[in-house]
Amino acid sequence: MFSIKVNLLLLLGSLFSFAPVSVAQDSYITKRQEMVKQQLQDRGINDFATLTAMLNVPRHEFVPDDIKPYAYNDNALPIGHGQTISQPFIVAFMTQSLRLKRSDRVLEIGTGSGYQAAVLAKIVDTVYTIEIVDALAQEAKNKLQELGYSKVMVRSGDGYLGWPEAAPFDAIMVTAGAERVPQPLVDQLKEGGRIIIPIGPHHAVRQLKLLTKKKHKIITKDLMPVRFVPFTRIEDQEHDP
Ligand code: SAH
Repeated sequence: MFSIKVNLLLLLGSLFSFAPVSVAQDSYITKRQEMVKQQLQDRGINDFATLTAMLNVPRHEFVPDDIKPYAYNDNALPIGHGQTISQPFIVAFMTQSLRLKRSDRVLEIGTGSGYQAAVLAKIVDTVYTIEIVDALAQEAKNKLQELGYSKVMVRSGDGYLGWPEAAPFDAIMVTAGAERVPQPLVDQLKEGGRIIIPIGPHHAVRQLKLLTKKKHKIITKDLMPVRFVPFTRIEDQEHDP
C-alpha cells in the first residue's frame, strides 16, 4: 500500500516539478522513500506538497561528498563553516507549518546548503533566500543552478534585514535560532502572512514559533522545542577568533 502511495507521489512530483532531476538516474531513491515513510509520514507529516517535495529533492546533492551516504539519516549533518543542514523531519515540519500555496512568495533566512530552499521551490513559485556566510551562499547558489532550481534567488548578507525590494512576503522561514524576532521580517510580512522561527536564549533549546499577521497584529503560537545553529549578525562574525 505504501509503495503505491510513494510511487504516486513520485510520479506527481516528476510531473509537476520544473527541476530537471532525473528520478531514473538517482540511486538514492530508495533511501529517500524510506526517509519520507519512516521519518515523516510515520511521525505525522501529512501535507501532500511537503511529502512530494521531499521525495523529489535529492538531499544527497546538498551535503559534502564524504557524507553523502548519510544524507538520508534521521539527523542534521555538517555542511562546513560550522553550519548544518537540518534534520529531514524539521525541514518537513517547518515547511508543512507554513501552509503554503503555489502563488506564495517565500523568504528563507539561512540558506546553508540550499536544501530547504529547493524543497520550498517545489511547492511555491517564488523563493528568496539569504545566507550570511558568503562561501555558503555562493556554493548554494551554484548547486541550485546546477540542479535547475531557477526560481530560487540567493543573496549573501544579513537576513536580519530581510529582502525589502522583494517584500512583502506570504511566508518567511528562519532556519537559524534567534533570540528575538527581527522587526524588519515582521514589517516585510503580508497581512495573513506567516513566519516560522526558532526563538530562545543563545545556545539553549529554543521554541519553534509560528507567527501570523492578522489585522496588523501578530499572533504567536509555540510549536515545539528545537535546537538550531545560532542566528548571527555581521559584527558577530567579525569578532569570531
Ligand atoms: N536551511 C539550511 C540550514 C541552515 S543552518 C539548509 O537547508 O541547509 C542555518 C544557516 O543560517 C547557516 O548557514 C548560517 O550561516 C545562517 N545564518 C545565521 N545567521 C544568519 C543571518 N543573520 N542571515 C542569514 N543567514 C544566517
